[in-house]
Amino acid sequence: MSEDTMNFDMYVHGEWRPGSTGEVVEVMNPAKGELLGTVPDGGQDDLDAAVESAREGLAVWRETHPRVRSQVLYRIAATLQERAEEFARIYSLNSGGSIGTGLWTMYDVAGRRFEYYAGLADKIRGDSFVTPGEFLSYTLREPIGVTGHIVPWNGPLWIGSRTIAPALAAGNAVVVKPSSEAPLTLLKFAEMAHECGLPPGVLNVVTGRGSRLGDLFSRHPGFDGIYFTGSTATGRKILQNAATRNVRTVMELGGKSPNIVFEDADIDKALDGAILAIFANSGQICVAGSRLLVQASIHDEFVERLVEKAAGITIGGPEANALMGPVITAAQRERVLGYIEKGKQEAELVAGGGVPDDPALQKGYFVSPTIFDGVPNTAAIAREEIFGPVLSVTSFADFDEGIALANDSEYGLASAVWTENVKTANLAAQALEAGQVFINHYYTAAFEVSRSPYKSSGHGMSEGPDAIYEFLNQKSVSIKLGEGGGW
Ligand code: NAD
Repeated sequence: MSEDTMNFDMYVHGEWRPGSTGEVVEVMNPAKGELLGTVPDGGQDDLDAAVESAREGLAVWRETHPRVRSQVLYRIAATLQERAEEFARIYSLNSGGSIGTGLWTMYDVAGRRFEYYAGLADKIRGDSFVTPGEFLSYTLREPIGVTGHIVPWNGPLWIGSRTIAPALAAGNAVVVKPSSEAPLTLLKFAEMAHECGLPPGVLNVVTGRGSRLGDLFSRHPGFDGIYFTGSTATGRKILQNAATRNVRTVMELGGKSPNIVFEDADIDKALDGAILAIFANSGQICVAGSRLLVQASIHDEFVERLVEKAAGITIGGPEANALMGPVITAAQRERVLGYIEKGKQEAELVAGGGVPDDPALQKGYFVSPTIFDGVPNTAAIAREEIFGPVLSVTSFADFDEGIALANDSEYGLASAVWTENVKTANLAAQALEAGQVFINHYYTAAFEVSRSPYKSSGHGMSEGPDAIYEFLNQKSVSIKLGEGGGW
């Protein structure tokens, strides 16, 4: 595929389908500020077709032996890993992330998730309970049905696989709406998944603007569950729509995650961790460590060294394999720069604060790594999710103040603690109001362990064995064996 032929249709019922509206969404290459391709700007008819297709797919897939479902999912995992370079390239051109990040997300994240849930597909089982001589009761675990997935631009497969893989493993048929900013990876993936043996209709991808197609999607009566990953503001709109039908929802939303450095931390590692936490992928990671809380006794030296390190951050397009790429759109760059201007009124700018000077970066949507110090926790840059390379630094006196500052947030997605003291680490892990706690590192969380977000960061299980239950209904069956009442 050449860079200038990335014009895709939708993928419905195992084949490409042109959109019904005749309109298209332009998909940009954010590193160059150039048009990359187009996808249909779908409407109600496209969505109806995808849901109908999924209903037909469901009839086949839910009756498929779990062992066979498992085999198909293993094949998807292996094929994605074999074709990781091709998928990484599409991801990088469309999302602006480096090729290295793309390869990692295809091979180690999405590939591994499909592998994990392939293994779980034939291990879904119920319980039984006997009331001697009176009743036999048991549970049946059944697919939810047709599940609707809305995915953000920053990780079409990286994030998308987190709900798509367990949904398929549990026997559901899926309709996905990727972000109109980055829809290409998921479209290509759906085709690949069918080539690996998914029956037609089991995985459908519809494209279009969130404001139109997304809204229709969350109102559509054909969905038995809505699985959303994206911003808290959009999540609230979707929840309102879903509430009118009372369907199952799982919401993975925004964050403003605290990264706490105690005075007894390994300072070199904490410095590297703080840089990675906010500047990897230009801060466009839901769990990015955008609030750095540093104990007052080490604050001055820590910030001085942090600013030095920030000056050495590499910035570039996908091929440069730099730590920081562009932000996703021109509009998002304006938004981030707006926060930087606001930050200048609220705190002290100690690094960055604009766009990079490098002439090679002028066409793409790049923002310099930016650090504010002395940020009051009431400032907009400390409270609101910027989703860009902007770090707020605040100091704290002791453990209690550090934790109180960390928890003084509407969000509760992730957090991190740097300390060499095992007691401090564990007490902090218990006290932090967040679905993930990283201790002495940032970002790594095992797929094999389940979690749920806190507060406005959403609800519902992700990852690991417990997430599969978000994609299953549980029915209890009671058989009367004797004359007793049973309770
Ligand atoms: P977004 O909320 O703007 O869009 C997410 C998806 O919702 C897109 O597919 C979009 O087209 C769709 N959408 C937009 N308006 C809609 C509407 N009215 N109804 C239905 N759907 C609509 O988010 P984004 O900019 O794509 O992604 C960034 C956000 O996602 C950040 O807030 C980030 O924290 C969050 N995120 C969260 C996680 C997580 O696991 N918690 C992971 C990745 C990203």
